[in-house]
Amino acid sequence: MIWYPYVQMKTMPQPYKIIDADGVYLYTKDNKMIDSISSWWCMIHGYKHPVLTEALKSQADKFAHVMLAGLTHEPVEHFSAELAKTLPGTLNYTFFSDSGSVSVEVALKIALQFYLNQGEKNRTKVLALKHAYHGDTFKTMEVGDSESYHFVLDAFGPKKDVYHIPTEIPALEKAMEEHHKELNCVLVEPLLQGAGGMLMYDLAFLQRARELCDKYGVLLVFDEVATGFGRTGYMFVADAVTPDIICLGKGLTGGYIGHAATVANQKVYDAFYGDSNRLALMHGPTFMANPLACSVGLASLKVFKEENYLGKIKKIEAITKRELAGFTDDRIKEIRIMGASVCIEVKDPKYIQGYQQYAYKNHVFARPFMSYLYAMVPYIITEDELVHVLNTMKNWFYIK
Ligand SMILES: *Cc1c(COP(=O)(O)O)cnc(C)c1O
Repeated sequence: MIWYPYVQMKTMPQPYKIIDADGVYLYTKDNKMIDSISSWWCMIHGYKHPVLTEALKSQADKFAHVMLAGLTHEPVEHFSAELAKTLPGTLNYTFFSDSGSVSVEVALKIALQFYLNQGEKNRTKVLALKHAYHGDTFKTMEVGDSESYHFVLDAFGPKKDVYHIPTEIPALEKAMEEHHKELNCVLVEPLLQGAGGMLMYDLAFLQRARELCDKYGVLLVFDEVATGFGRTGYMFVADAVTPDIICLGKGLTGGYIGHAATVANQKVYDAFYGDSNRLALMHGPTFMANPLACSVGLASLKVFKEENYLGKIKKIEAITKRELAGFTDDRIKEIRIMGASVCIEVKDPKYIQGYQQYAYKNHVFARPFMSYLYAMVPYIITEDELVHVLNTMKNWFYIK
């Protein structure tokens, strides 16, 4: 038996069985649908991209995996060099892992040890955002603030090592003033909070966070597992405000293989560098820097740059704004658009119940959650296909 995610197995509707996928399309035995959410936001090039597929195949012909401790290989050397070149500032030191959650765990471990290595033992807390989502492992659940996913944590009582604030500058200033001596980092999903409800906020908040982190000597960590690789319109939000540590996942390998990265800047790296083993980072996922993942990640970066993906994303944003301009309905609370992300938030979850089945009939795959009807399309989508996705979302409100 398969145990499916985030669902009551007893009442779960039958999932659609995929037998092929190509470009933006998913194929079942008797239907063809546009994947409007890029398989949990990671298939940024769509399916069966020739360059990515070739990179994977040619590496598989050499070797599929070797461990990274005591061994190294060309795919990881190239990929980490290319990431360093692509990321801003001195974000040059890449620690690979196998999933976004683990990349955040690693960032949190690094932030804690950064201070321990300098003899500061009291900086055990994290400042995070209300509605934050950083993954499903225990520490990431703790820094998260999404009651509807992680209620099991209630068993442990109130959270001790995290403060949650809204994305408002006065709240940020107050929390930093009060708590800076206990904080090792400010952790945020920059500009776009995905799983917490596709919430969007201003760059000014991040600019202020950067200033205050500098002022108080606290690390700034961006969880760009969802926002990285173009989703907000920036390649990385880090290109606008540079953090000390960035977490990447989802789109990192173009969705081909689960892999993630925690990238630190010079200042952070230096605090671990020295003669004592006690300063070293004690972490090492079995599959870190998997050669298949690195090869396909490298190909993904190349395609992203050479084929002007940021231009494609601008176009997706413009079309989305045009198509949704003036669209309203009594049941809608707010429509939010940023880069290649759009969310229609309804006033009650019941207003989007049945949408997935409706979309399926209209050849679109969608997976709304709670009150959020959203799309995060692969960047290779054509204008007609995108308009079809958006029309399907709008028509739902007309026919119901
Ligand atoms: C998806 C996600 C994660 C977790 O990544 P996994 O690969 O599912 O472990 C962490 N942070 C953010 C912002 C995410 O969207």
